Order: sequence, then C-alpha cells, then structure tokens
Amino acid sequence: MNHESPRQPPRLAHHAGRVCALLWVGLWLSGDAQADPSLTAGACDRGAYKVALDAGHGPTRGGATSARGRPEYAFNTRLAQEALEALHQAGFSSSFLINPDDKELGLTERTTRSAAAGADLFISIHHDSLQEHFLESWTHEGHARLYCDRYSGYSLFVNQSSRYAKASRALAEHLARALKAAGRVPTLHHAEDIEGERRELLDPELGLYRYDGLAMLRTAQSPSLLFEAGVILHRDEEALLDQPEHRATLVSALVTAIEEMCTQAAETTQ
Ligand SMILES: [Zn+2]
Repeated sequence: MNHESPRQPPRLAHHAGRVCALLWVGLWLSGDAQADPSLTAGACDRGAYKVALDAGHGPTRGGATSARGRPEYAFNTRLAQEALEALHQAGFSSSFLINPDDKELGLTERTTRSAAAGADLFISIHHDSLQEHFLESWTHEGHARLYCDRYSGYSLFVNQSSRYAKASRALAEHLARALKAAGRVPTLHHAEDIEGERRELLDPELGLYRYDGLAMLRTAQSPSLLFEAGVILHRDEEALLDQPEHRATLVSALVTAIEEMCTQAAETTQ
C-alpha cells in the first residue's frame, strides 16, 4: 500500500445523528417506543448516521495488480458497492459512496467529499499488495503474472494523532473483532523490518496498524479507517475474494462495526 498526498486544513465540527427527544417522548407516551426498539433514548438513529465509503484508487490508476492480472480498483469498487447495499438494507440509508461516478480522485478530495456531506465515518476500502522482492512469477491464462502466496489476510490502518484517534481505533477494533468472529485472520507483514513496511503494529491479535502519515486518515473530519480486505497477490485469497459468500462475511463485519459506532455516538450525545 502506498497512499500519499498533501495536507489539508481541518473542518471545525463533526456531528453525530441522534433521535429527536421530543419525538421519542411522544412515541413513548403513545406506547410505540416499546414496539420499535430503535426509538429509545440514546439509540442509534441509523437513517441519520452517515457512512462515507471510499473505493480506493481509480479507473486509470488502479492500485495493486492481482495475481491474475486484475486491478485492485475493481476489487475495491465491488466490495464498496456491496457494503453500501448492506448498509442500506440495515437501515443506514444516508450512507454513500465517495466516488459513485467512477472518476479519478486525489486522496484529500475523498476526505473533502466526506466532510462536505457531513459523514459520521470515513472508511476507505482497499485490497493489499506486497513488496516487490516477495513476488514470484507464474503463468495464468497464457500471461506471465506476479504473485506471492506467503501472506494473506486483512489489515486495518488508523491515525493515532488526529482528534478522532480514539474513535478511529474503536471503529477498527469493532471491525477486527467482527472479522475474527467470522474466522478471518489478519496479515502482519506490514510490521516487518523491510523497506516500504515497518508500520507500527498497535494490536497483533486484531491486525491493527498505526499510519498517521496517510493523507486520507490525516485529513478526515470524522473517525476514519483504511481497510485492506485481503491480499490479492496471494492466489488463493484472490480466488476467495471472488466468492460472494466470503465477501458477505466481510461486509457483515463492516455493518456490525458501524452499528457499534452508531450506538456509541448516540450514547455519548445523550
Ligand atoms: Zn490500495
């Protein structure tokens, strides 16, 4: 992974959605609050809680190339779209894609779009590569390709020096726990003592790394996270990522983490 771009000034305020107290009292008096568990004091207001989903890279600068020669961007857009659909189905109806029109965007343009829309969370979806010296050659469908079957699994990156450090870490921890509960295993290769890696591993059990220098995480005006969903240079993991059932477990973990963040935001704004 390599995702850099210039600094950008911070936005002043970040908001979290909440249920209107008067509405809740009115519903409670009429007895409807018990019928709808989402309408309780401090409950997560899913319809108002806005998640910005970013599909990393773009149509012309596609990021990493998979073991079978496909651009990372294709994996990112597919998973981001599926995550958006799952969020809408779960009631997070105002969640949106940063780049629905498939345009090339700079890193800070992505967080600018997120902030302009008043997003409560910014989540950038990526698929992982490996340093060149790990790569080996093979032939797939008549084409010479590069691969590495040595590392596989997800990884999560957060900024720990921004004003949203604590909440960003909470988001990453919720996601990692949900992924682990679904049987997913993190890759720890980003912490290796080699050029291009040496990321600070915040939690090896959870696959959680610190990456304060990443422009997107530095300029996000909400809790933010970069999610590497899997290593597409790994031949088996690339094939796994093509299975809808596998992607559904990743998406389900994302929705679980977002539900937890929404609930926490509601509790802290009571
Ligand atoms: Zn990427």
